[in-house]
Amino acid sequence: MMPKGASSFFVLVLVVGAVFLIQRFQSSGGAFGGFGGAEAAVTTDGISVYFSPRGGCEAAVVSQINGAAQTVDVQAYSFTSNRIAHALAAAHSRGVRVRIILDKKATDGDAAQARQGEYLQEQGVPIYIDGDHPIAHDKIVIVDGSTVVTGSFNFTKQAENENAENLLVIAGRPSLAAAYEKNFELHLSHSPAFDSSQVVVRRRDY
Ligand SMILES: [Zn+2]
Repeated sequence: MMPKGASSFFVLVLVVGAVFLIQRFQSSGGAFGGFGGAEAAVTTDGISVYFSPRGGCEAAVVSQINGAAQTVDVQAYSFTSNRIAHALAAAHSRGVRVRIILDKKATDGDAAQARQGEYLQEQGVPIYIDGDHPIAHDKIVIVDGSTVVTGSFNFTKQAENENAENLLVIAGRPSLAAAYEKNFELHLSHSPAFDSSQVVVRRRDY
């Protein structure tokens, strides 16, 4: 048996630890792993900037997707962020028209990217593969024909937690968003639908 004082101490440690974790969970938007806050480094004239690592880039992307009322169009090079994938699936399921164009590595040997494609496909989200370039390197989210989210930030845990990255959220700019939509449609025109049966040997699964 532990002395009574010692057991009380351990109970106190457990309670304090639990409170700490609950606060972390709530401040991270309900998901562990990625505690970057959503505060922009600065917001000026409707433009907000975020910097990685852990500067809120991922949370900012999720927030924009969660706020979408009508359309979300995404172009992504690397896409392994579960939080962003879940936000896109949720937007799709509440009736937002979501379309995603991924780089061809999703079907060409990148196992993590293939899994994300398969998850989104299972959720019914339309996904297309742009294999028309050496790499389809865009990282863009266009929301409701009005807001453009772009920067160096790839939609990955590493980009959120480790890399040096930047992300701009440019809100209330329909003419800018229209130019991005026109570019999106151009790439969509040569991007076939994602087909999980065409995922080639997954070298990372060896
Ligand atoms: Zn293209």
